[in-house]
Amino acid sequence: MTPIEQARAAIRQQMLIGGEWRKAQDDATFDVFDPATGNVIAQVPAASAADVDAAVGAAREALQSAEWRHMLPAARERILLRLADLVEAHGEELAALETLNQGKLLPWSQAIEVGGSAQWLRYMAGWATKIEGTTFDTSIAFPPGVRYRTYTQRVPVGVVGAIVPWNFPLAMAVWKIAPALACGCTVVLKPAEETPLTALRLAELALEAGVPRGVLNVITGDGETTGAALVRHPGVDKIAFTGSTEVGRLIGAQCGQDIRRVALELGGKSPVIVLDDMDVEAAVMGAAGAIFFNHGQVCTAGSRLYVAKPLYEKVVAGVAAAAEGTVLGGGFDANAQMGPMVSARHRDRVMQLIDTAGPEGGEVVAGGKRGEGSGYFVRPTVVANTANKPLTLVREEVFGPVLVAMPFSDINDVLRQANDSRYGLGASVWTHRLDRAQHAIDQLEAGTVWVNTHNMVDPAMPFGGFKASGIGREHGRSAIDGYTELKSVCIAY
Ligand code: NAP
Ligand code: MG
Repeated sequence: MTPIEQARAAIRQQMLIGGEWRKAQDDATFDVFDPATGNVIAQVPAASAADVDAAVGAAREALQSAEWRHMLPAARERILLRLADLVEAHGEELAALETLNQGKLLPWSQAIEVGGSAQWLRYMAGWATKIEGTTFDTSIAFPPGVRYRTYTQRVPVGVVGAIVPWNFPLAMAVWKIAPALACGCTVVLKPAEETPLTALRLAELALEAGVPRGVLNVITGDGETTGAALVRHPGVDKIAFTGSTEVGRLIGAQCGQDIRRVALELGGKSPVIVLDDMDVEAAVMGAAGAIFFNHGQVCTAGSRLYVAKPLYEKVVAGVAAAAEGTVLGGGFDANAQMGPMVSARHRDRVMQLIDTAGPEGGEVVAGGKRGEGSGYFVRPTVVANTANKPLTLVREEVFGPVLVAMPFSDINDVLRQANDSRYGLGASVWTHRLDRAQHAIDQLEAGTVWVNTHNMVDPAMPFGGFKASGIGREHGRSAIDGYTELKSVCIAY
């Protein structure tokens, strides 16, 4: 079978609720598109509030069932390891399905979506057997003669509503499912309406791996209806959200109102800072990779480039040349170096933001236009901020292959500019000087600071945002903390 045939064979067009494949109760569906062609590739259920209620009910029942609650941690670990093996064994079809639905180049679907998901599942599987509390001595003096034994234990937070975006559909789903299941929670997952297909196939593999019915449920639908119903549902104990800051604000407000646990992984406008001791070639490669990876549809995309004056012209010319030389094409095209935007709507938004550059005084030095063909292509774009004022492109997240570049002459000044953003997700500094790197690390307001690299993530490395880039951290021990409640126990004897 060709990769496209494999992808088509892996399409599932029903939701998984309580271990059963279901249509929406009112039979409503919506279309799923191939962003490289604009063709409809599937129709999946549009879940209503009633369907969300059924999914949350199934997750609650599974949470309380003896099968899940009393499962040995080692048995949960084994299930997650089996799921990782199944993701790898079905890696070709999952990667092809992601490329068909999301548009990213097939090698990236293989490496990031499939390879990354297996890696995250295995890492989090190991945590299932390592969740622990502490014992400590207290000084409670009353009543006289009574002694106390006190300790903490971690218990699953409960039913998790996971809402994820379309940029890394499978990986983002696994970033939430893997730690939640490792901790003994149950999950209702809502993928983005643009990209529901790999989540549905993953859920099927989870059943095969031995995840009990109802422990992982996947509902498809849009944010305003399905997502909002999940966020409001009183049976959900925690919402784990990745997406835009605007939607994160709505969800945070609702969860605050209901005193529901919430983790928000939101947008970014991450700076890339090249100091004057850096070699031009490495800076060009680094800056181009930081913005153009995954077609710029990365929350930590290095979308603001600050270059020391002596290197500025050369680095910007180098990144512009890389952009101009980029071959656009569908994700299955072996010659393509960059794929389409995920949807027509998103392409139009990216173009609108690019179109602000000229009138505000920026100079488009590469790209600035749509790509050819019926797919949702945008040429990789480099804008030189010659206006010497904060353009819209310096402030607003584009979530596309659009870079705005600025020169600087003073390191403290550039660190101030880098921090002058409502976002604080990622930042990178490019230098061979340890003293300068450490100074920047200390000053930058960002959840992750990279030195001489950008966009690198690992399941052991906490990930999340300062400021409007979010609340909470994923990965590592932080993820386990996020999917458990801490219970203090105090025994008098
Ligand atoms: P989005 O519009 O915020 O959507 C994210 C998810 O939320 C989707 O599943 C969406 O559903 C759902 N949603 C929308 N409105 C909702 C509502 N009122 N209630 C509940 N759920 C709702 O973001 P996006 O455009 O898909 O993704 C891009 C954004 O994600 C960017 O801002 C990016 O920076 C951010 N992101 C952050 C991280 C991180 O870890 N910090 C990682 C990746 C992406 P529908 O789309 O189906 O309507
Ligand atoms: Mg959306």
